[in-house]
Amino acid sequence: MSRVRTGPIVRQAVVTPVAVPDPPLLNAVGVHEPWALRAVIELRCEDGLIGLGETYGDAPHLALLRRAAATLPGLDVFDGADLQRRLAAAVGTANAPDRHGLTGATTPAKTLAKVTAPFEIACLDAQGHATGRSVADLLGGRHRDRIPFAAYLFYKWAAHPGGEDDEWGPALEPSELVDQARRMTERHGFASLKLKGGVRPPEEELEAVTELRRAFPDHPIRFDPNAAWTTATALRFADGAEGLLEYLEDPTPGLAGMAAVAEAAPMPLATNMCAVGFDDLPAAIDADAVGIVLCDPHYWGGLRATLQLAGICRTWGLGLSMHSNTHLGISLAAMVHTAAALPDLAYALDTHTPWQGGADVVLRSPRIEGGSVAVPDSPGLGVELDRDALERMHRDYLRCGLTERDDTSYMRRIDPDFEGTLPRW
Ligand SMILES: [Mg+2]
Repeated sequence: MSRVRTGPIVRQAVVTPVAVPDPPLLNAVGVHEPWALRAVIELRCEDGLIGLGETYGDAPHLALLRRAAATLPGLDVFDGADLQRRLAAAVGTANAPDRHGLTGATTPAKTLAKVTAPFEIACLDAQGHATGRSVADLLGGRHRDRIPFAAYLFYKWAAHPGGEDDEWGPALEPSELVDQARRMTERHGFASLKLKGGVRPPEEELEAVTELRRAFPDHPIRFDPNAAWTTATALRFADGAEGLLEYLEDPTPGLAGMAAVAEAAPMPLATNMCAVGFDDLPAAIDADAVGIVLCDPHYWGGLRATLQLAGICRTWGLGLSMHSNTHLGISLAAMVHTAAALPDLAYALDTHTPWQGGADVVLRSPRIEGGSVAVPDSPGLGVELDRDALERMHRDYLRCGLTERDDTSYMRRIDPDFEGTLPRW
């Protein structure tokens, strides 16, 4: 009787932190620093095959990635159960802080999910190269050939303090946000808009949403103040925004507040702050706190975990959309393959890609054209590492002086009175 094939076998797992230039995008807890940090994962296998993954590059996360990477030589990239055992043993009960402020209180389960994601993605990429199949195929097949994305609009300064104006210029007034939306939709063809709020007083932000609605009557618009409001403020805003929004994202902190707003709001509420792990879902569903869960493979535990989340959402009648942090082409490809394999995809995905000015660690980054990205046909994720860019962006990491994202401290250097506590209004 023939034996089941094994391998590819991991010879070495390499973690390379990189820095990518980032514009001064404003949010409820401060402002993006001049560099965003990411980590690139390479699973180098015995036959020369390489699997790629990408994740956050903050120091505590990086330390856990390296601890995990050291345990992976000898792993069969098809053996997901062995991967889980190795990562669980390496991470233990570590509870890495979430300096991004996006995923609520950290727990050992969430920390393990975040460490697991890029290695699972790299295993899938390696599996794809070994079999000649795309990651979408390995996830069960593609339900669509193009994945729609939303234009991610931000309040922003024209430049980082002391720097030159970037290509997007300032956006502090509604008219400037409309101009930003025009340029971004013209450039990439986006058919949906998302505005990051929690920056200006809620009345001003409602005016901005109203102006966007007027300028883009056919574009679904979503709005995300990142829990900057009290329940009362959120209810007032939701009432004023009736008919303007496809969904309102995290208007207020916590499940109880979200449930109170959800009960009265004329639009569904979405979250990437109060239900951000499988352990959060029973209480969120019991409380009717959210209508749409924003999946994100980077913190839900990978691509297969995201498909499991989709099954739960379908069972309970919840919508599913996809969240984005600043990311590069490996993550974009992973998001695209995941979205291709989701049976239900009612919403465009979020992405920060237009803000990176073309900087990437892969050759021929997936392109956003006509508001969507084509699902790659080539094996694995369908992206190829650009070694020169990786080296250059690693040097940028070493010289930029940042080791953790900290929007609040950066804002305080410019505005010492800024507090960044939530809710603010
Ligand atoms: Mg959000």
